[in-house]
Amino acid sequence: MDVMKKVPVREQDPQVRAHNFDEVCLGYNEQEAMEEASRCINCKNARCIQGCPVNINIPAFVHEVKEGNFEKAFHIIGESSALPAVCGRVCPQETQCEGVCIRGIKGEAISIGKLERFVADYAREHGVEPEKADHLNGKKVAVIGAGPAGLTCAGDLAKLGYEVTIFEALHEPGGVLTYGIPEFRLPKKRVVEPEVENVKKLGVKIECNVVIGKSITIDQLMEDEGFDAIFVGSGAGLPKFMGIPGEQANGVFSANEYLTRNNLMKAFLDDYDTPINAGKKVVVVGGGNVAMDAARTALRLGAEVHIVYRRSEAELPARAEEVHHAKEEGVIFDLLTNPTEILVDEKGLVTGCKVVKMELGEPDASGRRRPVVIPGSETTIECDTVIMSLGTSPNPLIASTTEGLETNKWGCLVAEEGKTTKDGVYAGGDAVTGAATVILAMEAGKLGAKGIHEYLSAK
Ligand SMILES: Cc1cc2nc3c(=O)[nH]c(=O)nc-3n(C[C@H](O)[C@H](O)[C@H](O)COP(=O)(O)OP(=O)(O)OC[C@H]3O[C@@H](n4cnc5c(N)ncnc54)[C@H](O)[C@@H]3O)c2cc1C
Ligand code: SF4
Repeated sequence: MDVMKKVPVREQDPQVRAHNFDEVCLGYNEQEAMEEASRCINCKNARCIQGCPVNINIPAFVHEVKEGNFEKAFHIIGESSALPAVCGRVCPQETQCEGVCIRGIKGEAISIGKLERFVADYAREHGVEPEKADHLNGKKVAVIGAGPAGLTCAGDLAKLGYEVTIFEALHEPGGVLTYGIPEFRLPKKRVVEPEVENVKKLGVKIECNVVIGKSITIDQLMEDEGFDAIFVGSGAGLPKFMGIPGEQANGVFSANEYLTRNNLMKAFLDDYDTPINAGKKVVVVGGGNVAMDAARTALRLGAEVHIVYRRSEAELPARAEEVHHAKEEGVIFDLLTNPTEILVDEKGLVTGCKVVKMELGEPDASGRRRPVVIPGSETTIECDTVIMSLGTSPNPLIASTTEGLETNKWGCLVAEEGKTTKDGVYAGGDAVTGAATVILAMEAGKLGAKGIHEYLSAK
């Protein structure tokens, strides 16, 4: 065994997986996990812990994996994270724990994410359950939104003895984990649902189909329903568009809608009543993780797929692994290209996308080189579907129906250390930061739980 190199992880063959929705990465088996864990040198001053936003005791759990004590490893992770099977799959480890792993200096970093995933999967398959609080403290907290921020906050508060109810607008909990990230990266039945069940096993109640701001307001929850504090983890689900001609046409989707219709409403399964017009030639505008997910979903639905992105490959904001997987599967990248108009026929259906070629100029405020149009470079890409993946912002519903809850100029809730501008109301995750990551939402959920506990303990 070469200790400088990761134990390779098994994946579905790209030619096969481009036509199915099964998970791409197959993960480690016990033998492989123990071998990979044995590469960890159990650093005294472990940089990986600092690199993890929720500070999982990585050397301790990796040591237990090495010894074959997988259940013990699960409980160590459980002290810091309620969603290890999710995080092991979708966290950007390469810029967090693995990005600072000491092994990565001369060789390859420890595959911390794949080991976390292995431990969580092992625990689920062997019926290992999270540890619950032994008494209730008589205080009630409402959590709005059952995404990673809300689930984490709820789980932490339940462990401290609070009676916690999550109110979720959709008919299933999980937030983006359920409706956004596709099945082939994050299986719903096998991974997301059991992790949500684990949060329920801590005593958390989840009420779906309740839209806070419409069904009931935050003020009513506090004044009429007896909740002592609130955590808002309502995410950032409002899609942005380009504002170019033709965007209203039949065949233009936001990535959020396209993914929701596939993930939550199972548009790709014949036995569901909510099909989608999959498209034969699809243009996805954008270069982030969401764009890669939309592109790889359209590919699996049988389309030829083009990613159209206005900067170059070096600036693609998606994780390198996602870009690599998309390319392997056959997604075509039209880089340094920007749409200017969506072409539409007399029936209002998309027929193509007018684009211009770009070159990179001086860096802009984001530090990335500004794309500049090359004069006379206009061409047309024929297509029948366009998916806009340009980012999202928080839905204004909650702020507009809650007295004293302030937002900033991007529509995000104003919160400091999780505390909003309204007494007793805490917030975190994408609702505060704008679209970010699962682990940052979980970190914010933890911070919110800590803030609520301090607030209610002092009352
Ligand atoms: C397609 C896609 C792929 C992604 N891939 C990755 C990835 O690989 N890795 C990664 O780390 N991050 C990824 N992200 C980002 C990550 O999923 C989010 O940052 C994270 O889910 C934010 O968590 P949250 O709990 O703040 O919000 P969400 O997950 O959005 O959850 C918010 C919940 O609140 C509910 N809600 C909203 N308004 C109300 C209301 N008024 N009343 C009741 N409920 C309400 C929503 O229905 C939703 O269920 C991806 C995002 C998308 C869209
Ligand atoms: S930094 Fe890397 S080698 Fe060191 S304890 Fe963490 S995972 Fe192990």
